[in-house]
Amino acid sequence: MSKQILSAHFGNPDAYKLDTYVELGGYRSLEKLFKTDPGDVIENVKQSGLRGRGGAGFSAGMKWSFVPKDVDKPKYLCINADEGEPGTFKDRKILVLDPHRLIEGAVICCYAVGIHTAYIYIRGEYDTPIRRFQGAIDEAYANGYLGKNIKGSGFDLDIYIHRGAGAYICGEETGLIESVEGKKGQPRPKPPFPAVIGLFNCPTVVNNVETLSNLPYIINEGWEAYAALGSEKSKGTMLFSISGEVQRPGVYEQEFGVNLWDFIEGATGGMKDGKTLKAVVPGGSSSPVLTAEEARNTILDYESIAAAGSMLGSGAIMVLSEDVCMAKALKVITRFYAHESCGQCPPCREGTFWLARIADRIERGEGQPEDLDLILDICPYMMGMTVCVLADAIAMPAKSYIEKFRGEFEQHINEKRCPYTDEAAGSAAG
Ligand code: SF4
Repeated sequence: MSKQILSAHFGNPDAYKLDTYVELGGYRSLEKLFKTDPGDVIENVKQSGLRGRGGAGFSAGMKWSFVPKDVDKPKYLCINADEGEPGTFKDRKILVLDPHRLIEGAVICCYAVGIHTAYIYIRGEYDTPIRRFQGAIDEAYANGYLGKNIKGSGFDLDIYIHRGAGAYICGEETGLIESVEGKKGQPRPKPPFPAVIGLFNCPTVVNNVETLSNLPYIINEGWEAYAALGSEKSKGTMLFSISGEVQRPGVYEQEFGVNLWDFIEGATGGMKDGKTLKAVVPGGSSSPVLTAEEARNTILDYESIAAAGSMLGSGAIMVLSEDVCMAKALKVITRFYAHESCGQCPPCREGTFWLARIADRIERGEGQPEDLDLILDICPYMMGMTVCVLADAIAMPAKSYIEKFRGEFEQHINEKRCPYTDEAAGSAAG
């Protein structure tokens, strides 16, 4: 049984209420926090090994340390609750079931970096999480955990909810910043990074919901306790959203360093209806697919999954059985990224469009033999060529689907139909 830090309160239906949260030990970290030098807090978070849980996996403490200390501008925190990566549904659990843990984490981050205003960017479809989190903010203000002079510390912090309007790209940190500023959510070229020039051209920390929610534990128990969990370079635990053809899909917390498939099987009960595992997408739709054999032989941490040719991303694990048509899976994800491209970079705008078009005709049984190499030719021109990584986010998985399941794609082309349906070419699209 893995250590439960983030999901410790998920089984308590009242943990979202301030009174219950405090009874469970919530906001305990603030007393210790306000007696600690902010620079030491940053150092402790660095030492803990906590990495960003939004996808990139960059050191949280390091990110904070890039924010200039002495500037005559305000500094901001943007909490990323956009959670748009297909397959990811773990931040909403924190927002609904344990929102004060996130507020406590935000206070810790803001105190360490010298921030007095935070925005939380929540995807627009998250109606219940928005209402639940607003309720928690109101309770925190009413009881002195937010606002002026928090618990007599002399430290002030305001938090505002910014509701997104449904664009995937607003989960990218600079797209998010543009959107909070009231503009079209198009990512900015980097550098400059948000730590120096971010929201309203001021120094800004952008952290994911889950990242911040780890902070109360680190302050309460010490960075050593957090760093003792996990594997050599992947410290602590992570929330994994497991979906697909397993018996019990859901959100599960797991310490890094265990076997990937053992974790999935143990948490969810394994494959549904006695089906056979075909593939695992380990880190959301933007991560390259792993074959069943790779999933069974990979350790669950950032480095091992990267060594297997994929990435941990936001921890969205999708389990695919023998019944899943890989051509259809590719068609669905290429269509998603083509729709979500913001359009400012030609390799992304054109590349996503053409990948979607080619994947669609292959799945319908209308592909040409040269289409598979055409996809493999297009992908390198999309990777590392654009303002943000959305183009990479579809080029990398597209390449992996073709390389690892080429036989299935060839079967669609040769038989001029989808072998997973009975229909002939032209009528099998789903
Ligand atoms: Fe927009 Fe795509 Fe360029 Fe990202 S890579 S900035 S989504 S066009």
